[in-house]
Amino acid sequence: MDGTAYLGLTGIEIDLADGKPRRIWLYGGLKIDEPIRPNAIDVLLTSRDEPDASLFVQGSAFAAGLRERAPYLSQRALQVRRRRVWMALLAFFAALVAAGVLLSWSPAKWIAKTLPLSWRERLGNASRDSMTEGHKECVDAAGVAALKALSMRLSKGVPAGTTFDIQVYDWPLMNAFAVPGEQIVLAKGLIDKAGSPDEVAGVLAHEMGHGIETDPEAALIRGVGLGAALQIMLGGTAGGGLANVGLMLAQLGYSRGAEHKADVHALELLKAAGIAPKGLGDFFTRVMKMEQDGGGAPTAALSWLRTHPLPAERARLVRAQAAYPATPALDAAQWEDLKAICRVTRDPKEDNGKS
Ligand SMILES: [Zn+2]
Repeated sequence: MDGTAYLGLTGIEIDLADGKPRRIWLYGGLKIDEPIRPNAIDVLLTSRDEPDASLFVQGSAFAAGLRERAPYLSQRALQVRRRRVWMALLAFFAALVAAGVLLSWSPAKWIAKTLPLSWRERLGNASRDSMTEGHKECVDAAGVAALKALSMRLSKGVPAGTTFDIQVYDWPLMNAFAVPGEQIVLAKGLIDKAGSPDEVAGVLAHEMGHGIETDPEAALIRGVGLGAALQIMLGGTAGGGLANVGLMLAQLGYSRGAEHKADVHALELLKAAGIAPKGLGDFFTRVMKMEQDGGGAPTAALSWLRTHPLPAERARLVRAQAAYPATPALDAAQWEDLKAICRVTRDPKEDNGKS
């Protein structure tokens, strides 16, 4: 339909031959397929005001005038807009990467979580053997029974429904390590220094938290590489250059985020077990005081405190936990049994499978 178009104050004013009143397409609502070049002689427009209609106007004066009034329809403006889209996309991907880093998303973690338990157990056995090399396993029957009771109690809250396998080694170290496959290595030194079974329970619950999160699996995959980790999982041994996987795991500290998550799990496990969370905080205070008093004690370098920073945050979490009915993690007799677990030991190498 023919008509006349003028460049008005707020938009293009259009008089059509249909006799209807003059309509206005506001400059802000105009859209254009071909941006207006400096030497354009015509323009083809559409408008938000009348989505079904399009307007074709001939004449370079009209095109130039429209460029002035609606500069965003020009070619230059379009280039700037395209650049902005690219910048926005770049910023989006940069933000995505940053978020990934902040949320500590990692492929190793993802892989670790998808591995079957039996594979993770083999990885755990290999790293435990190498970690505890030269230390005897503590196998006093009453002590093992007490530990098993504690493990079963704490494992009640484990999402996968599995019971953690905890082994004590005659090792003066004041530490405990989560190893792959829902296993924990507990050094006798930690039991010796703990003031109550609740303190041991707190530490074990925290290590179980790492296990639930498959932190040790992910750390090993990151450390030795997926190929080597698979070799251990399928072959069952850590030969050659992998003999130090245990040491690696022992010296490794986890990220702040991983520590926090392990603490959160610990509090859940303790609550599900009906064990007071205070022990976790108490153990910390005790070890800190011991290290301050004792200076550079020989076991300090590998103490639980060194691989577990964030004492203030941990204490705050424990304090924030609402009270619930709790009983001691072990009764007096069981606690005595646990403390005496290294009365009977065995060399894992010589005496395989027998206790
Ligand atoms: Zn930890």
